[in-house]
Amino acid sequence: MTKNLSLLGSTGSIGKNVLNVVRQFPGRFRIVGLSAGRNISLLRDQIEAFNPKLVSIADESVAGDLLQSLPAGWSDRVLVGREGNIRVATLPETDTVVSAIVGAAGLIPTVAAIEAGKDIALANKETLVMAGDLVMQAVKKHKVALLPVDSEHNAIFQALAAGRPEDVKKIILTASGGPFRTCSERELWEVTPTQALNHPNWDMGKKISIDSATLMNKGLEIIEAKWLFDIAIEDIEVLVHPQSIVHSLVEFIDGSVVAQMGIPDMRIPIAYALSYPDRLKTGLTPLNLSQCRDLEFHPPDFKKFPALKLAYQVCSRGGTLPAAFNAANEVAVDAFLEEKIRFPEITLVVAETVNRMPPKNVKDVETVMNADLSARIEAQSIIEAFILQAKQKRGEPATSPDLPPLSDSFSSIERKNTL
Ligand code: MG
Repeated sequence: MTKNLSLLGSTGSIGKNVLNVVRQFPGRFRIVGLSAGRNISLLRDQIEAFNPKLVSIADESVAGDLLQSLPAGWSDRVLVGREGNIRVATLPETDTVVSAIVGAAGLIPTVAAIEAGKDIALANKETLVMAGDLVMQAVKKHKVALLPVDSEHNAIFQALAAGRPEDVKKIILTASGGPFRTCSERELWEVTPTQALNHPNWDMGKKISIDSATLMNKGLEIIEAKWLFDIAIEDIEVLVHPQSIVHSLVEFIDGSVVAQMGIPDMRIPIAYALSYPDRLKTGLTPLNLSQCRDLEFHPPDFKKFPALKLAYQVCSRGGTLPAAFNAANEVAVDAFLEEKIRFPEITLVVAETVNRMPPKNVKDVETVMNADLSARIEAQSIIEAFILQAKQKRGEPATSPDLPPLSDSFSSIERKNTL
């Protein structure tokens, strides 16, 4: 039977890979809805190739240009903005929504899709980082499937099938360590956006490439894993594995450790999330372990990459803090890409923002979106202070300021992770 898909974020790195899988299995999947940010030339090509029922473009200013490039009769089928995303996510024909928008903007359409009874293939980790409790409650209430596309979570999902939930001791997320794994703390101050965008193993979008370089991505992923697999944050570990062959592992109470492995290609987790419980013949190069010389694993360096430490902390404090953490990071990553702040300052901006934000209980999506907005404003003002400071200090050598004080709750997690 053909599965009808609405793809949110079709022109991004995940979106393009989703369409590659769909192209390969035309009888199995059909695209009924597409939504993109502002890349109208690629979206136009996708519309021509997949002929969806409905399309949405986030940036209203380019909607006119998109319409002009389409044949007559498309005006009713092109929508804009948040409302457009929601319409695409809740199309009556849609069976599964692939949530692959980058960042906080993915939350509202994903929640709308769940409430409309759609199964979700989730690439937008922010949905769970920001509102994990609400989202998982909605998933239960509306009896929909939530399948992880994120490679680590997809790996854990596969490994968990080897045992019963009550027999899981811990889950271990692997991290490539990013392009600066072997740099000194001091060298991190000299990192340029171009260097940070150059990920060693995965070909990804800008935002996630920077997040991988700061280890913020792994921080977001531990929070994602906590909600997705209903596991205490203390039982989630991170291991740096530079080769990106072992995508993650589950340790059971008997000492068995089950891993999922494969070449680093997002089409594998995407195909699995779309076809579960079936497996598709993707035709991708099989993993040849005899050609992988050394597979290394070591604990993360929390001192050099404090974003990961901060993520454990905001996750254990909970409430609206993870949403603020994520929002501050989005603002800081933009500022770094615009060369307004330096690489280690991304994490400093995030740490300072969450320190200033009073954590509130999450009542509804609105509470979360308000925390997101306040954190963006706060982060922006911290960035401006950093810029001013940098101007005053021009000519002085770069020093590494201390992180704001963190609560004691982290120390036990740090111990577990490094032992
Ligand atoms: Mg990942």
